Amino acid sequence: MAELPNDPHWYLPKFASVEEERLHRKQRLAAGFRLFSKFGFEEGLAGHITARDPQRLDHFWVNPFGMPFAHLRAGDLILVNHDGDVVEGEGSVNRAAFAIHSQLHQARPDVIAAAHSHSVYGKAWSSLGRLLDPLTQDACAFYEDHALFDDYTGVVFDTSEGKRIAVALGDAKAVILRNHGLLTAGHSVDEAVWWYVTMERTCQAQLLAEAAGTTVPISPESARLTRNQIGSHVVGHMSFQPLYQRIVREQPDLLN
Ligand SMILES: [Zn+2]
Repeated sequence: MAELPNDPHWYLPKFASVEEERLHRKQRLAAGFRLFSKFGFEEGLAGHITARDPQRLDHFWVNPFGMPFAHLRAGDLILVNHDGDVVEGEGSVNRAAFAIHSQLHQARPDVIAAAHSHSVYGKAWSSLGRLLDPLTQDACAFYEDHALFDDYTGVVFDTSEGKRIAVALGDAKAVILRNHGLLTAGHSVDEAVWWYVTMERTCQAQLLAEAAGTTVPISPESARLTRNQIGSHVVGHMSFQPLYQRIVREQPDLLN
């Protein structure tokens, strides 16, 4: 049997300098926004994906408020500090993005990136106030690895609310914000974006299946095994790569 690598992040690219790593992270983030737009996840001014800065660990990169996801280039991203001030780039930060993501990045030092939007199937599912069931192989990525924030009290403008969301998320890869939508987290931008894409489609699949008839869930043992097979940080990261290649070939200006 092959030995497990000592470095838990062996699958992530290595960089000669922090500047290179920052550019890489920003390009992945820009690709994430283009994909969110392509998948129709954008709803007006809502939605944010954040990436922790590789050097200033309490700062994160995010989209400037009001810019269409479809136009966003790596160079358009803004850097926000732990007080919510924009310290690099042009534009302002969505208050909800700061309130939620600053608390989440603080509570989870392992989380490099987090994604949230108001995509249709995620928000429809969130209104049921239930966790997703292991109905399909893909759904098993979330088995015993997602949480429910079982509350809704208006737009999240307060960091105390963001803190409560971070507590609900715990050690999981995702949280369903009741009556609001989905939020996913990862050890790379790639992973956080992939979990979002596949979680949205998992919500769609369960809504379709339950509308059509009585579902047959996968057994807890098999769901756990499948989660370990397809729900790891490595597989989450790898699953994003075809999407990245596709969007960069179609829209190479996102790298600028
Ligand atoms: Zn929201």
